[in-house]
Amino acid sequence: MSKGLQKRVEIREKRLQTILTYHGDAKGLVEGSEKNELKIGRFNFSQCGNCQQGCAIMQVYSVLDAAVVSHSPIGCYAGISANYFTNTNVAQMRGNRDFHHHGICTNIQESDTIYGGINKLRHAVDEAYKRYNPKVIYITTSCASGIIGDDVQSLAEEMTDELGIPVFAVECEGFKSRIWSTGFDASFNAVLNAAVKPPKKKQEDLVNIFNFNGIDSFSPLLKTIGLRPNYLIETRTTEELAEMTEAACSSSICETLATFMSDKLEELYGVPQVKAPSPYGLQWTDRWLRAVAALTNRHSIVEAAIRSEHERIKPELDSLREFFKGKKVYVFAGDAFAHNLASVAHDLGLEVIGITTFHHDKKYDNPEVNTAKYLVQAVGNVPNVSICNKQPYQVVKFLKQLKPDFLLVRHPGLAVLGFKLGIPAIMENDSDKAVGYDGILDLGRRIKRSMQSKKLYKNFAKHTVLPYSDWWMSEDTDPFTFVEK
Ligand code: SF4
Repeated sequence: MSKGLQKRVEIREKRLQTILTYHGDAKGLVEGSEKNELKIGRFNFSQCGNCQQGCAIMQVYSVLDAAVVSHSPIGCYAGISANYFTNTNVAQMRGNRDFHHHGICTNIQESDTIYGGINKLRHAVDEAYKRYNPKVIYITTSCASGIIGDDVQSLAEEMTDELGIPVFAVECEGFKSRIWSTGFDASFNAVLNAAVKPPKKKQEDLVNIFNFNGIDSFSPLLKTIGLRPNYLIETRTTEELAEMTEAACSSSICETLATFMSDKLEELYGVPQVKAPSPYGLQWTDRWLRAVAALTNRHSIVEAAIRSEHERIKPELDSLREFFKGKKVYVFAGDAFAHNLASVAHDLGLEVIGITTFHHDKKYDNPEVNTAKYLVQAVGNVPNVSICNKQPYQVVKFLKQLKPDFLLVRHPGLAVLGFKLGIPAIMENDSDKAVGYDGILDLGRRIKRSMQSKKLYKNFAKHTVLPYSDWWMSEDTDPFTFVEK
């Protein structure tokens, strides 16, 4: 990774040597990544896809007193309404705050692609400043603004001088990276440049937690060793974001989200990154707590806290494990978060028979943080691991062939893949629900409830006609037929 503050982030294909296709087992993925043998892969047919601009906007738009100007056609900006509703809820959950829409789209038109859109952008930034009185303005770019070559960086610098607040260009043109999580890095880089400040004092009991929206599950977990979470970056103010350099250490709900930011905080401000898997599952939560305790000088109390938590959850965990004996689960989610879910499922006594992730970072910003390796250590060699940039037409084939008892997904619209095949499924939309010791039980209860409705799912399957041809669904057809060899 480049050292120091940067105007733009290198895309994940280059920085983390990210890949988009793989079919094998978990060990093969870890070893192939270490030896750099695996290639990114190119699909010559895609059923759907994501764009890094969506990930970037989602993050910067969630800062309470910032404004976002999306320099794009209106279609690229359409997802903002979902972010608005999510942020409103999260702001309420986290301290009864109000979240207001602070966004403008330049709505690039055909004529702008011929004559240039920079004047329109200047006008939009001015308008955002007048309407919202923000502390920072983030300008997000798009394929259209990139293709016509609008110099957004220079305009942002000019407007910073003119308005007297930071105006920062978040370079996240969809075509620039095939890995949509590059957008997370672009947005964190913007926050790092525009909002984060050197520490005024150190807060030795504060732990940075980079996450999405979610319930407050880190407070009870950290409280066991006398610490408190600093949730970042959704629904925080610019002033609060500046304080992340005062924390004792940083962690995240998954490395896919915040590996770039945690590493930069360590490099630039000496805030150490927790070198352990995120606290999902029994083994990983123990490991994470010990790593946090080591960084916050709490060695003497952490073992007693872990013992007491194990004793507390044991009766219910034993009963869940009894229920899940012999049952098989398949996980379908983003790279590191899929490993988190597999870790919890394994500790609940489910057999993890397969995992599909949307991409895989072969390298990590910090080589000591490697969730795929942690996965093999904790769960063993998961026999069916694939990477397929969110392509349902492939996943239905994996599910049909492996016939899991349960499907665990992270993103909207994917649980239905299980329903259509008669497989109970849960969408783990709230990333924080399965965190820590209580999170293990919580996910276990939800999976159990869902499995008890088996008949409902069988009925779904009975009345569903999949849109795929017999040729595609045949066992002889390779699910990776549309990946260029
Ligand atoms: S930035 Fe490009 S890829 Fe992303 S939504 Fe807009 S047009 Fe699509």
